[in-house]
Amino acid sequence: MRLLIFIGLVYLCYRALKSRLFPAASMGNKGFRYNVRNIDDVMVKDPYCGVYFPKRDGIPLNVDGKNLYFCSNECRDKFIASQKKK
Ligand SMILES: [Zn+2]
Repeated sequence: MRLLIFIGLVYLCYRALKSRLFPAASMGNKGFRYNVRNIDDVMVKDPYCGVYFPKRDGIPLNVDGKNLYFCSNECRDKFIASQKKK
C-alpha cells in the first residue's frame, strides 16, 4: 500500500517538474511572458555621446516618428540643438 502512495507522489512530482521545465509546451506562447519584463532592461546607445545605458533609464525623444533615448536631459538638449543647426 505504501508503495502505491510512493508511486503516486513520484508521478505528481514528475508532472509538476515537467510543467515547470517545459512551460512553453503546456501553455503555448504564454510561457514566454516571464521574459517580457527583460525588454525594459535592453541596452540602448545614446546617439549624442555614444554611451550605453538601460532603456528604462533613458530620456525618450521622438524624432521623425522614431523614439531615441538619451542618457541625460543634457545630451537630449544638445542633440536637439545639433539637429537644428543642420
Ligand atoms: Zn549622453
